[in-house]
Amino acid sequence: MLRIAEQWYGSDVGRQRQGNEDNFFVRAPLYVVADGMGGAQAGEVASQLAVETFEPGLPDGAPDRGLVELIRAANARIHEMSRSDSQRSGMGTTCTAAYVDRDEVVIAHVGDSRAYLWRNGDLSRLTRDHSLVGELVDRGKLTEEQAELHPQRSVITRALGPEPDVNVDTERIATRDGDLFLLCSDGLTSMIRESQVAELLAASRSLERAGRALIAAANEAGGRDNITVVLFRVEHVDVPGAETQATTEAPAVGADVTGEAATRADGGGRPAAGDSAGGEARSARAPSAASRATDEQEAAYRRDATVAGERVVRSSPPPARGQEPPSGEKPRRRRRVPVGLLLVLFFAVVLLTSAFVAVRAVFFLGLDEKRAVTVYRGLPYELPLGIDLYSRHYISGVTIDQVPPARRPAFTDHKLRSLEDATDLVAQLETGRLRE
Ligand code: CA
Repeated sequence: MLRIAEQWYGSDVGRQRQGNEDNFFVRAPLYVVADGMGGAQAGEVASQLAVETFEPGLPDGAPDRGLVELIRAANARIHEMSRSDSQRSGMGTTCTAAYVDRDEVVIAHVGDSRAYLWRNGDLSRLTRDHSLVGELVDRGKLTEEQAELHPQRSVITRALGPEPDVNVDTERIATRDGDLFLLCSDGLTSMIRESQVAELLAASRSLERAGRALIAAANEAGGRDNITVVLFRVEHVDVPGAETQATTEAPAVGADVTGEAATRADGGGRPAAGDSAGGEARSARAPSAASRATDEQEAAYRRDATVAGERVVRSSPPPARGQEPPSGEKPRRRRRVPVGLLLVLFFAVVLLTSAFVAVRAVFFLGLDEKRAVTVYRGLPYELPLGIDLYSRHYISGVTIDQVPPARRPAFTDHKLRSLEDATDLVAQLETGRLRE
């Protein structure tokens, strides 16, 4: 099955706009970019409503149908608000969503934000622009080059908001190990050519560098619009439950799970109006941006900053529940070793051996040093002298910050579980099907 190996996101106001009407939602395995329109107090509201709709996760059933259902629900909410509130009249937003399913990535899309696939050095566009020039290109009336310079290239023909219902394009992409996906608003692709996007992706050693380079290039080209970039790389892993209990030691699958990017703890929300690249930069955004955010959004940013900070600071493996395990009493000094003690030691070894065998059959969930949800084999305790009663069985592609807050205790309470129970819960998490 697929899981997220690495991700990065950032949103930038650009060089000419006063505010940022783009929004995004990042909670593996679900990624969304929304580019609002309708001017101040409307565009950003529309794109915010769009990403908020993804907050509960996908409904049951096929993921492509689920994405369509959420996007249509977002459309209905935006349309209703634009009709009932004269200040929001005419607002709309694009919406490009990607969901990493077991073996495929599912894309659902309305408008002129885009999804791309970067595979083996080739960049391919996965979405068709619902714009005037996009449709002219599709019909062969314009070349891609003419479209890039067309004065009406920002006129879009399909969006969330204008109509009570909306058609959503979907596509399923059979995915290979290492595929990199890019979701972006037109603030990127209207400023730099696809060939330049490809060059920057090829030249960057990490997703963070690639993302920052893309945003910087769009700004250098003029930065006429807000620029949002979401990047995620997928990898294939074996299904954890498929392994038999007879195996002596499960190899730690992909120790480098989450990459350098911090993930929005509350899943999505508004990007900062200034540079709001993932993680640390978010907390360092310009004060002027704070005045534009509501108190609630501000609180969300602070939560994010705290979480990101915590992730960086924490470096030692923390499977114990926040507290250090008891370190035990200091060994008492004895002058000689009586025979009785040798017998006690012998039985202790027998007991410990049987306990060890028993311990191999139980599992619990906890976090690894990168806060990724991890299946541990054994008991959640450490003995003195650094002897652990557990070992890593499987590291998921999801960090605890990506888990809805109400469900987090299940992944940190260290309750003993069967292997099946533990891997089931993690599989639900990895496929975005965790019930609230
Ligand atoms: Ca835009």
